[in-house]
Amino acid sequence: MVKQEFKAESKRLLEMMINSIYSKREVFLRELISNASDAIDKIYYKALTDDTLTFDNDSYYIKVSADKDNRILTITDTGIGMTKEDLENNLGIIAKSGSLAFKSENELKDGHDIIGQFGVGFYAAFMVADVVTVISKALGSDEAYKWESEGADGFSITPHEKESVGTEITLKIKENTEDDSYEEFLEERQLKAIIKKYSDFVRYPIKMDVSGQRPKEDSENELEDYQEEQIVNSMVPIWRKNKSELTAEDYENFYNEKHYGFDKPIKHIHLSVDGSIRYNAILYVPENMPYDYYSKEYEKGLELYSNGVLIMNKCADLLPDYFSFVKGMVDSEDLSLNISREMLQHDRQLKLIAKNINKKIKSQLQSLLKDEREKYEEFFKSFGRQLKYGVYSDFGTHKETLQDLIMFYSSKEKKLVTIDEYVSRMPEDQKYIYYASGESNERIEKLPQTELVSDKGYEILYFTDDIDEFAIKMIGVYKEKEFKSVSSGDLGIEADESQNNTESEENENKELFDFMRTILSDKVKDVRVSKRLRTHPVCLSTDGEVTIEMEKILSAMPD
Ligand code: ADP
Ligand code: MG
Repeated sequence: MVKQEFKAESKRLLEMMINSIYSKREVFLRELISNASDAIDKIYYKALTDDTLTFDNDSYYIKVSADKDNRILTITDTGIGMTKEDLENNLGIIAKSGSLAFKSENELKDGHDIIGQFGVGFYAAFMVADVVTVISKALGSDEAYKWESEGADGFSITPHEKESVGTEITLKIKENTEDDSYEEFLEERQLKAIIKKYSDFVRYPIKMDVSGQRPKEDSENELEDYQEEQIVNSMVPIWRKNKSELTAEDYENFYNEKHYGFDKPIKHIHLSVDGSIRYNAILYVPENMPYDYYSKEYEKGLELYSNGVLIMNKCADLLPDYFSFVKGMVDSEDLSLNISREMLQHDRQLKLIAKNINKKIKSQLQSLLKDEREKYEEFFKSFGRQLKYGVYSDFGTHKETLQDLIMFYSSKEKKLVTIDEYVSRMPEDQKYIYYASGESNERIEKLPQTELVSDKGYEILYFTDDIDEFAIKMIGVYKEKEFKSVSSGDLGIEADESQNNTESEENENKELFDFMRTILSDKVKDVRVSKRLRTHPVCLSTDGEVTIEMEKILSAMPD
């Protein structure tokens, strides 16, 4: 028997993952059960397109059994199974998801997909087990194989006997140490609780042999031992459940189970719509930005189910770009299972759902802003740029949606404020909404151009993102107030002394001013006396629409 080495980088990844990705050891069971459920889903899909296959509900299940004396936990499924090559490829290379490959191999219609595509779930088993054994027989194959591994050392694959198609995963549960007990993964009651907690909504039955004592039927006082097979999960998907039955923890568990993120969601939105179109949806606003969020790699989208069956992993049409951070799923009975991606784009039902969802997200963000300000600010720090980008690029159609959700740092409040808050406390004599652009709040604070406005007691919004000025140019006027850069020539503030006065000062020093104008002729348009400065000797100002900061950004852009 030849032991194959894990690919070198896999070793380190395995250790890293075991120690960092999963905060709780018990989630290993969730991972193995979701793989089992994926494997049954795969047969389901095959049956949809292959007439020789039928999907008989009763023959598909997942079974969890524990042998306490031998410290063995077994997870069996009647799913699609794995060939020798599958075992080698899917369980030998960490972060290579067989489920992703399944899609292309089977040339499933574009749009079909299977839940798993992260490619690390299986290895969670090593958090609780010293040895993991996988015995599997693939659909349509006569041979079965055994994959075995003790963790980072590598794995072996040998032929093995197995009658029925499917997979049996055996974990040799670790011995207890002084600090750590693994006993719960061998106890019937605890296992049941873990399954309930993480896998209750799995569509296929999760069975366990349950034993105990109960009163004898014909006698009230006598007890009898019993052992029976029970279905542990309710099989009702969480999104079909009543909101009142669910706790915040249930939603959090679902978020983690689905790998929507490894953080905690900041808000969940559960929708059950029963109107002209029927659908259920669970949506999340994440707390942290995914590492690739502002990169090209990031793919927006929601999982799309048709009557409980996943048909697409990331349906992009359900989310506008400015809400691309939203995670979650939509299930609708009114969508056809065999729908393709091209068809989806034109699907009227889907458009309706998208529109509806969009409205809900907006109103939920508004109430988050209103009722849980701190949380909203946290959210805005991660995803605010995306909202501002939305104001800029989608403004024609989404003015109302977005302008009240964006925030800027305020010179007065020393924190993020909305435009509405700014306008509502403007003194009567203040004509404009003032803003100053710069690299950072600290830099802006030192800008000489801010002095006059600040001295007047007016608030200034600090623009530190490239997109900020472009975004407010799209808003143009907010509640009849225009935006004004503090570096613009005409600030609409009456200076204490009259214009004549500056002119006379300029005339008195005509030689000096002419000299400066000549020296700086290729750099500035004019040199003037300014009344707006207090502590700085000089500042730059603009007289057009484009401010100095915008000019910088524009000239940095490729033509
Ligand atoms: P993911 O589920 O994200 O793809 P995993 O590490 O959980 O990643 O699993 C890796 C791959 O191993 C799966 O994609 C699948 O191809 C295969 N696999 C794991 N468990 C099973 C199983 N019980 N039946 C069939 N295939 C499985
Ligand atoms: Mg998985």
